[in-house]
Amino acid sequence: MHYVIVGGGTAGWMTAACLAQSLRGAHRLTLIESEEIGTIGVGEATIPPIQFYNKVLGVAEPDFIRATQSTFKLGIEFKNWGRAGHRYFHQFGEFGANVSGVSFHQLWLRLAHHGHPYPLSDYSPAATAAYQGRFLPPFSGMSKDIPQLSYAYHFDASLYANFLRDYSQKRGVLRIEGRITEVDRDGESGLINAVRLEGGSRIAGDFFIDCSGFRGLLIEQSLQTGYEDWSHWLPCNRALAVPCERTTDSFVPYTRSTADRAGWLWRIPLQHRTGNGHVYCSDFLSDDEAADVLMRGLDGKALSSPRPLRFQTGRRKKFWNGNCVAIGLAAGFLEPLESTSLYLVQSAIFRLLSLLPHSSRPDPSAEIEFNRLSTLEWEQLRDFILLHYVVNDRDEPFWRECRRVTVPDTLAHRIELFRARGKVARHDGQLFPDSSWIAVMLGQGLMPERWDPLADVMPLADLEKQAQGLRQRLHQSIARMPSHVDFIEQHCKAA
Ligand SMILES: Cc1cc2nc3c(=O)[nH]c(=O)nc-3n(C[C@H](O)[C@H](O)[C@H](O)COP(=O)(O)OP(=O)(O)OC[C@H]3O[C@@H](n4cnc5c(N)ncnc54)[C@H](O)[C@@H]3O)c2cc1C
Repeated sequence: MHYVIVGGGTAGWMTAACLAQSLRGAHRLTLIESEEIGTIGVGEATIPPIQFYNKVLGVAEPDFIRATQSTFKLGIEFKNWGRAGHRYFHQFGEFGANVSGVSFHQLWLRLAHHGHPYPLSDYSPAATAAYQGRFLPPFSGMSKDIPQLSYAYHFDASLYANFLRDYSQKRGVLRIEGRITEVDRDGESGLINAVRLEGGSRIAGDFFIDCSGFRGLLIEQSLQTGYEDWSHWLPCNRALAVPCERTTDSFVPYTRSTADRAGWLWRIPLQHRTGNGHVYCSDFLSDDEAADVLMRGLDGKALSSPRPLRFQTGRRKKFWNGNCVAIGLAAGFLEPLESTSLYLVQSAIFRLLSLLPHSSRPDPSAEIEFNRLSTLEWEQLRDFILLHYVVNDRDEPFWRECRRVTVPDTLAHRIELFRARGKVARHDGQLFPDSSWIAVMLGQGLMPERWDPLADVMPLADLEKQAQGLRQRLHQSIARMPSHVDFIEQHCKAA
């Protein structure tokens, strides 16, 4: 088989690296990219499954961190989201400890009702470490009843693509530089036979992976697969991105997301700079106003002028079509609120590996299965992101409009079940664990009317005592960790 990957952004090189490592020379791999067209150059915050991707590649964490100017990420701080002046933390990993099979958050709901002074995030190792500016990978010194830290990374997107490019080329991926101008398809079957480059060369292949970004060169421009538009649910359609100088205060082990008049701003700390951006809806905010909000909020000197990006939230009607699979922005777009895009790239790669074609002939059952699983995953992530918008108490026209949206039934059920009894509805293959849904639902202001009756079994005074003890042990364990800055300085400082 000859696999041809079209595009050398993060999606293209993540695909090339993982296929090269998994196929170990058994098949030919070619990647075509155009430096003249370039890459989108954003996509710097990740979620914990990225560690699994690195493990499959056999990459040593300190090498990866040094090469990409990474920092560690323990979650996201959401400021002004539920309402102006309020903040909450979406932590990676669990809260507290279950008692006799009852989820800790249910116990906490009961405690909170009786005046317990501490927020649920005080029982999260990740949130506690994040707010104390500390970091240490999971270690055996942590008290046994406290969940281990779960973490991801922030990295420089261009350096990451370079890192993966080197990795892939060392493992036999052929890189071709050039702009694709035509796609040759079989007159009868419609399958893609080859792509043609400016200058005339023709690259034939058996299976094509479209990583060409928003333009969807193969999946849309050639195969006309169609796009399911989700902008009636998630109306933000523009972003401005700008890096700024790093300040000492900004070097925190978490992403910051601050809601604003008609969207939100991100702040991503890296070792050598801070990444900033403003995602907004152009129906409610002009580009000049958006730039003004972004530039006024920087906490260091801007290193360039803001770069505009446009998008339409949604997904391809089929991710796999004939002998082509779309991965990355070519597959669709969900705004980067929960840093899910690179995860979707990773998961599409592993899904493809699990359904790898046997030959160049079409494989309808694999295509159906790939599309079924991908659709489930995209819809669940869409619901999770939408949750941040629909449950809000802000007063601007954009946010009032977000509250009025009729949400998909799947999300409506999750919200109702949580409102009624603090329970998270379980879905097959759900990416974000219950603790993520709980953090965001409570953080956005969705307080359950009741808690699980099982949480009433233990006498209140005993429960209070257990919770205090747990919180104390957790805070003591975290206080023994090095600071995030010191940990990087000592173990993985970039040149
Ligand atoms: C504002 C914003 C913020 C984001 N933040 C995050 C985040 O924090 N975390 C996260 O996980 N994701 C984030 N994303 C998503 C993330 O940036 C992308 O998923 C990731 O960069 C992958 O992009 P890509 O490789 O699919 O596309 P691109 O980077 O656009 O790459 C496309 C490639 O195709 C090539 N190409 C295109 N046309 C041709 C042609 N005709 N001939 C030859 N080559 C061609 C280009 O040269 C390029 O190499 C963000 C996205 C946006 C818009």
